[in-house]
Amino acid sequence: MWKSLNTQIFIAAILGLAFGWLLSLGDPTHVEVTTWQSGSLYILGLLSGVFIGLLKMLLIPLIFCSIVVGVANLQAIGRFGRVWKITLLCFMTTTTLALFLGLACAHIFDTGKGLDIALFQDQMANYQAPDTLSPSAFFSNFIQNTLINPFKAFSDGNVLSVVIFALLVGAVIVAGRGQFDTAQQFFQQGFEMMMKLVQWVMYIAPIGIFALLAKLVATSDFEVLGSLAKFATVVTGTTIFHGLVVLPLLLWLFGRISPWRFFKVARPALVTAFATSSSSATMPLSMRCAQELGVSPQVSGFVIPLGAQLNMDGTALYEAAAALFIANLMGLELSLTQQIIVCLTAMLASLGAPGIPSAGMVTMIMVLQSVGLPAEAIAILLPIDRLLDTVRTAVNVQGDMMVSAVVQRHVSDADLLEQNMA
Ligand code: ASP
Repeated sequence: MWKSLNTQIFIAAILGLAFGWLLSLGDPTHVEVTTWQSGSLYILGLLSGVFIGLLKMLLIPLIFCSIVVGVANLQAIGRFGRVWKITLLCFMTTTTLALFLGLACAHIFDTGKGLDIALFQDQMANYQAPDTLSPSAFFSNFIQNTLINPFKAFSDGNVLSVVIFALLVGAVIVAGRGQFDTAQQFFQQGFEMMMKLVQWVMYIAPIGIFALLAKLVATSDFEVLGSLAKFATVVTGTTIFHGLVVLPLLLWLFGRISPWRFFKVARPALVTAFATSSSSATMPLSMRCAQELGVSPQVSGFVIPLGAQLNMDGTALYEAAAALFIANLMGLELSLTQQIIVCLTAMLASLGAPGIPSAGMVTMIMVLQSVGLPAEAIAILLPIDRLLDTVRTAVNVQGDMMVSAVVQRHVSDADLLEQNMA
């Protein structure tokens, strides 16, 4: 059943892209409401809305239950410390590699050189840049928005706050040494119920993905893409290289999973990430795919929600490459120190970006400002961001699933070692 759904999702994605292209031939955004193109767009909007809406509905309860249960179970069997350390190490390693790739591609292909900044003057003038987002302002905002009433966090869908609250609840269950068994069982059942609901939502995934991709292609402005074609191609190509070469190599070396098997099993989550441009909305599926890969519910329930929030290789790569692109465009040569600052702030920006469409664009302001580039320059990239977001979100999600598989292997190895020694 899962296998055939996997194929259906893939076919739906291809059909969605083709149908979107067909729709765009008639420029549906500007025609009369009665034409078939705008009618189709309306229906596509409804269909994709149902799919995304259902995923979002499950997201917060799923994150909460899975982290509580993950922490409680892992800590109880003495694995939490290990899982936590390996997870952070993997997140840092893959993001750092992505940042280097981002810088390297911008240098090798000299993106932005030869383009005239005057071309974009109008866009930049019309853009209202938000207030300065310095790293210190970022941290104080971060704390103010994160340590809040959990009910507010639940109702606002504030993923990071929910993650932190869930970590604390999980820890207190363990500290209770059996005192809170009923609560633990409650959350365990809640988690299983949510996963069952994910399975139900998956039945309509092919329709949702078809609608999302058709709408994206039909409403995107490919003309603007033309003027930034070189940058878009280089960034997308490098992101794909990270996803097809770097990450699979790491997975094979440290997780002992063949890339072929990984892509076969992870395809539904990758296609959904591509179509929704949201790591958060894709999270229920990433968790399911990770479990199909052999990752335990405890490990995937802990690593994947955390990764959907913190681990964004595609976003980090994009932000580093985009900062250099803008510097080149303005005829500025960034020194080595400035490039290191770009990397550090891009890492921070990718940590802080929520897993929603175009979130990376907002946190990129911080990266630009860290080396004195104007925030208005974002206006140049905004028209193509939604398209570029597809690939970088897929790679963000791939990184999360991959790290969960590597963590699983190292936890299992430690278990085996202990059993052998016993
Ligand atoms: N859309 C991305 C994600 O959800 C974040 C970004 O804009 O880079 O992972």
